[in-house]
Amino acid sequence: MSIHLTGKGPQTIAIHAGESPEKQNQASAPNICMSSTFVVDAPISFSAKNIEADTPMIYTRWGNPTIGQLEAKLAALENAESCVAFGSGMAAASAILLSLLSQGDHVVMSNTNYPGTAEVARDTLPRFGIEATTVDTSVLDDVRAAVQPNTRMIWTETPSNPLLRIADIAGLAELAHQNGAILVVDATFATPVATTPLDLGADLVMHSLTKYIGGHGDALGGSVAGRRELTAPLRGEGLIHYGGIISPFNAWLIMRGMATLPLRMRAHQENALKVAEYLETHPRVVRVLYPGLPTHPQHELARRQMKNFSGMISFVTEQPHADAARMMKELEVIHYAVSLGHHRSLIYLMETRDLIGSSYRLDGDELRKYEDIAGEGLFRLSVGLEDADDLIADLGRVLG
Ligand SMILES: *Cc1c(COP(=O)(O)O)cnc(C)c1O
Repeated sequence: MSIHLTGKGPQTIAIHAGESPEKQNQASAPNICMSSTFVVDAPISFSAKNIEADTPMIYTRWGNPTIGQLEAKLAALENAESCVAFGSGMAAASAILLSLLSQGDHVVMSNTNYPGTAEVARDTLPRFGIEATTVDTSVLDDVRAAVQPNTRMIWTETPSNPLLRIADIAGLAELAHQNGAILVVDATFATPVATTPLDLGADLVMHSLTKYIGGHGDALGGSVAGRRELTAPLRGEGLIHYGGIISPFNAWLIMRGMATLPLRMRAHQENALKVAEYLETHPRVVRVLYPGLPTHPQHELARRQMKNFSGMISFVTEQPHADAARMMKELEVIHYAVSLGHHRSLIYLMETRDLIGSSYRLDGDELRKYEDIAGEGLFRLSVGLEDADDLIADLGRVLG
């Protein structure tokens, strides 16, 4: 018997959605279907244009039973009509931008966000005649001022990399819809445990599944959820034409990680709050940014919009480069490495000059605003699931 999800809580949904016992052998856990092709008993069109929700399996780049289970689980957690999984978060992001925008269109995007997305907006889109304006999307008036008659999309990341700015999703959705545009939210840092952007009016929500949703640092993946009318072109172009399909093995690993997502997010938040409070009292720490702290400039919005403050902390020290050098050599528990959302704690210095030069290209007031917060660079700490006391001791030793 398969489970009815209506009225079930998020933990039950995270565990059971998309899965049901194998029909052939009654296996309780899902089997992995690695097959690249499927035997058909009637002619099926090869064209991406002819794919319907009930088209039988034909070839894994079109869709696959294991990937389909992952997509169903994600759709259930996001309250979405449909979901498409990708081979990475960047495959998901580029599929959205390249499948839903055309020559002559305009997109308004966060001016500080995931560097890959920032560079696609600044370098790739203009080559195809698509214009991008970047603003601080946590300031609604700045977004309103950037909207043009040809604006088709507003793109925000909340909380944003690396400043942990919070964008008002409902406010941005209203603004987008008044102007005939769609709102896309990269909610990787929040996860569906903290926010379900579609419920707040967003049109699409994307994730790097590589981060919290997979949760264990061993599989790359991405996803986009929303109305079928918007996700269908992403399957047709992003998967079938551009080829951004996820391996069924990675889909299976991520699905296994997702079963514990609500439990893990609670533990990430609990640990992050302890570490953030410790860092705030440390004499060599200049500034701590964590949406769960009352000192976060948008703590009130975070409280209204987020059911969980996640495990991402950014902090600034007096001597970031010297501290980074010590961390690389002397951290015992925390790994000095990029990425985030894993059970292992990860820390990395996000150097201002590097980010501004390569990805964000801010100048004038925008640059000053960034430097006022980040100085020469800020440490992005993804607080994992180890014991908080061990993380605090590790940081205490290197910060002196
Ligand atoms: C990591 C990340 C991405 C890119 O995801 P990959 O899986 O590494 O391709 C996009 N957005 C955010 C916010 C991320 O943290």
